Amino acid sequence: MGRTDADVIVVGAGLAGLVAAHELTSRGRKVALVDQENAANLGGQAYWSFGGLFLVDSPEQRRLGIKDSFDLAWSDWQGSAQFDRVDDEDSWAVRWARAYVEWAAGEKRSWLKGHGIELLPTVGWAERGDLRADGHGNSVPRFHIAWGTGTGVVGPFADHAKKAAADGLLTFRHRHRVDELLVDGGAVRGVRGTLLAPDDSPRGAASNREPVGEFELTAQAVIVTSGGIGADHDLVRRHWPERLGTPPAEMVTGVPAYVDGRMLDISAAAGARLVNRDRMWHYTEGLRNWNPVWPGHGIRVLPGPSSLWFDALGRRLPDPCLPGYDTLGTLKHLRTTEDIAGHDHSWFILTRKIVEKEFALSGSEQNPDITAKDKRAVLRDRLLGKGAPGPVNDFLRHGADFVVADTLERLVDKMNALTDKPLLDAAAIRRQIEARDLQITNPYSKDAQVQGIRNARRYIGDRLGRVATPHRFLDPAAGPLIGVKLHILTRKTLGGIQTDLDSRALGTDGTPVEGLYAAGEVAGFGGGGVHGYNALEGTFLGGCLFSGRAAGRAAAARTA
Ligand SMILES: Cc1cc2nc3c(=O)[nH]c(=O)nc-3n(C[C@H](O)[C@H](O)[C@H](O)COP(=O)(O)OP(=O)(O)OC[C@H]3O[C@@H](n4cnc5c(N)ncnc54)[C@H](O)[C@@H]3O)c2cc1C
Repeated sequence: MGRTDADVIVVGAGLAGLVAAHELTSRGRKVALVDQENAANLGGQAYWSFGGLFLVDSPEQRRLGIKDSFDLAWSDWQGSAQFDRVDDEDSWAVRWARAYVEWAAGEKRSWLKGHGIELLPTVGWAERGDLRADGHGNSVPRFHIAWGTGTGVVGPFADHAKKAAADGLLTFRHRHRVDELLVDGGAVRGVRGTLLAPDDSPRGAASNREPVGEFELTAQAVIVTSGGIGADHDLVRRHWPERLGTPPAEMVTGVPAYVDGRMLDISAAAGARLVNRDRMWHYTEGLRNWNPVWPGHGIRVLPGPSSLWFDALGRRLPDPCLPGYDTLGTLKHLRTTEDIAGHDHSWFILTRKIVEKEFALSGSEQNPDITAKDKRAVLRDRLLGKGAPGPVNDFLRHGADFVVADTLERLVDKMNALTDKPLLDAAAIRRQIEARDLQITNPYSKDAQVQGIRNARRYIGDRLGRVATPHRFLDPAAGPLIGVKLHILTRKTLGGIQTDLDSRALGTDGTPVEGLYAAGEVAGFGGGGVHGYNALEGTFLGGCLFSGRAAGRAAAARTA
């Protein structure tokens, strides 16, 4: 092969690309890091993320009395993934899943520490599941938050890239949009694309797509780390699976505009096999951001278990469609129930007490205390402080989806004013809330949600920091009442380029496409769908770390 521009080209400067680049440059390989966005966007989505990391049997868990194990986590993972294509599209995904859970129960924590990533002492309980021992969900809390949120996870790798650039091992190619992978004799040997006009938009803002030229780069191998499809609602709707019913006409967008999914078809044109495209992870608790960064910017509520969840017609959602339990189970209910599937929203009703203790918002900018690694502010605002955290208060004050009232009837009036037609009947909602309030008197109950609240409070982390003391919704001392209009929020792509355990992209015949690797979200976080149908949360950043590492190491070994 003649002179090349680098040993390896990495397409996408998000977390997976930066990790792959670090593995390569730390082994002396020369890397061209190509991204369609400007330098301000280095780190991609991970920068905006909450920094939640799935770990199993960690010291943080043990200190909180949580008994976790590989066996329990692997049982949970399989119950969630529900892999049903093991001879075909899931064949590598299953192997990735097992390797990933082993990593999360083993080396992951020390590897994170070795890269300067520290964890908060508390552990959150995300995706509590579908109420079945062998079904979806986390049996125990496993959601570890990085100091610095997502910026604390991606920061060290962004720094490595800058250092490698200063050392002459890495060249940044910002505003380079890849349109084609160059294939020579069946092997991928480079990229071709469009030079986009300079754009000094701040991080996360949509940038221009004005072409000012073309480029071509060659290398011994190409690693695609271009992220998912969440910003392209048409693409999301095109792949929306029948099992999740009617795709919503209106959604809010949980990712920046550059998460456009274009590289998937571009990779397929070079021979890569795309699998599990019908698997996605979108949330049902999206808010319209009152202070948007990217187009249609939505923020996900990370709900504690106490809010009451109603459909667009004012009926309480059935179990296990409870806040923080079963993301896709709830999405399925909302999109397949005939008389509500035409509406794209649902509702939380909660009390001031609940909002103060339980409401959290996903995203680095929504958690400035943790993002700034300000331990004093975390202690003051989250554990000792009274009242909701500042960013939640901002939503209460400015958010278009929040209404507050002293009486239920007044609240429902205000909720009805947020939809084209008044769909909610205050008397019917009152009956349901009064029935639920009657279940609070004893320390046990027949109401599954109330049982869940009591169960959660037996975990010290939830009792101290996350789950409000059980109380009657209609007790004025707990008020005022709050109504929140919830939208479907696009976020993660669970399928993608099928890869083997070295992150080599596989072709339609199941053999590796020479010179092509894929990692991170574009590869379904490993194998073309490490999560199967459902995620246990905190598994996406980790999936980028694990698959990006594998890609970088394998490409380094083959470009020696
Ligand atoms: C608000 C938010 C909160 C989140 N919270 C968590 C969390 O707590 N825990 C967790 O595990 N996960 C979380 N996630 C998910 C996680 O952050 C992402 O899945 C992950 O960062 C994806 O990384 P990536 O490297 O695969 O892709 P990306 O970060 O999307 O990076 C891909 C890069 O490729 C570039 N690119 C794409 N196409 C081209 C092309 N044709 N040419 C050139 N460049 C291209 C893009 O510009 C982009 O920079 C969150 C995500 C968001 C948005």
